[in-house]
Amino acid sequence: GPRVRIAPSPTGEPHVGTVYIALFNYLFAKKMGGEFILRIEDTDATRSTPEFEQKVLDALKWTGLTWAEGPDVGGPYGPYRQSDRKEMYQPYAQELLDKGHAFRCFCTPERLEQMREAQRAAGKPPKYDGLCLHLTAEEVTSKMAAGESSVIRMKIPTEGSCDFHDGVYGDVSIPWDSVDMQVLIKGDGMPTYHMANVIDDHLMKITHVARGEEWLASVPKHILLYRYFEWEQPVFMHLSLMRNADKSKLSKRKNPTSISYYSALGYLPEALMNFLGLFFIQIAEGEELLTMDELCEKFDPDNLSKAGAIFDIQKLDWLNGRWLREKLSPEDFVARTLEWASENNRLTEGLKLSQSRISKLGELPQLAGFLLSNDVGLTPASFAGLKTSPAETLEILNTVQADLEKLMEWNVETIDAELRAVSDKLAKKLRVVTPPLFVAMSGSSRSLPLFDSMALLGRSVVRQRLKVAAT
Ligand code: ATP
Ligand code: GLU
Repeated sequence: GPRVRIAPSPTGEPHVGTVYIALFNYLFAKKMGGEFILRIEDTDATRSTPEFEQKVLDALKWTGLTWAEGPDVGGPYGPYRQSDRKEMYQPYAQELLDKGHAFRCFCTPERLEQMREAQRAAGKPPKYDGLCLHLTAEEVTSKMAAGESSVIRMKIPTEGSCDFHDGVYGDVSIPWDSVDMQVLIKGDGMPTYHMANVIDDHLMKITHVARGEEWLASVPKHILLYRYFEWEQPVFMHLSLMRNADKSKLSKRKNPTSISYYSALGYLPEALMNFLGLFFIQIAEGEELLTMDELCEKFDPDNLSKAGAIFDIQKLDWLNGRWLREKLSPEDFVARTLEWASENNRLTEGLKLSQSRISKLGELPQLAGFLLSNDVGLTPASFAGLKTSPAETLEILNTVQADLEKLMEWNVETIDAELRAVSDKLAKKLRVVTPPLFVAMSGSSRSLPLFDSMALLGRSVVRQRLKVAAT
């Protein structure tokens, strides 16, 4: 049967987009009697972390999906983490150099930047100009001997186009002159995504590559690598990205996109998977409530839904409500709620913050409830009791929103430091700047410590609440 995979990069909070692609692959494997496998793509050492990898695994486990092979369960084609495979890629790079399909490039970052600058100025998309293609074997040897650092780039045909069939898009044609001479091996010896992805898909015997449409433009590079290695290429399927109702891409800068957001707020994984699964299948109105088995029954890769994947949070809420009411017995409901509460990090941390601020447990929902809702019910009256004028309040909200975007790391200390910097900038005391933020975060001026709350809520929720408060 077919072999498919999900290949997340552990570079951030696990994304609903990753689960959406994973679900497609899972349904495909189940339907076709194949295998679904998990591979961690962490060749970008500057952005990948073990903590994010653990979160990716936890998020995928939470969804209920299972994989036949992966870093946690092993399998015949391991290791399943690319950083553990670093040595495996070298012989393939050498093979491409030997066959003349790749070349060493000694261009410095400064030269590349100048080149791109000139291309941008001329209105051309940035692309490697091929300077090092013309180095002789002797020049390469002497530069290597002198210890000059280099990368390995792939050669690209100079004319014609790459024509291929995509299982979703149909026939695609991309001119070679729009394809960059992709770096395959970086200066530190690590492969790039493109190199590792193709080699691993081949070695792991992947037959179908289903992923987000943002990778469609990379297919020519991948197809060329398959040809250079004389390997059979997989079937490509590029799925449309999830979008907001206004057609803009669902993106972490605009919406909460992390799985942990949905689990913390008490969406059932079954309901989220039901919701995402509806993007792939064609059903009549009234047939929306579906279990994983039912999704699988209705899933037909030759007859995918033509509707765009609009991420309608109200529909998700509606489905989640139906799951709670119609799919769980009262006993199951209670058990699931208690399980959710005991595993809910936001709730546990929120409780710890509440301990010194209440005299009875019954006050907890009012004090800490804002951590678990997606709407804190702000009205203009919410800000009425503040000492700052409406104009000052707005200035504070907007300044904080812009400055928080610059934070590299999101935790109590960095938030604390940033808000102090904002107070200095606005020439206001910290205790003048924080009350509007309390209201924006919690809907109330009496709530949990601000910096801790913001850290717990996470970047995307804070961004969203500041936006709502400023409008
Ligand atoms: P940004 O907001 O910076 O554009 P992002 O929200 O696109 O980021 P990434 O970290 O780039 O998030 O993507 C993480 C994973 O989620 C990738 O595998 C990507 O394919 C997938 N993904 C991101 N956005 C979507 C989307 N709108 N629909 C489906 N999948 C998505
Ligand atoms: N690591 C890539 C990603 O996270 C995988 C893309 C692919 O499936 O080829 O998007």
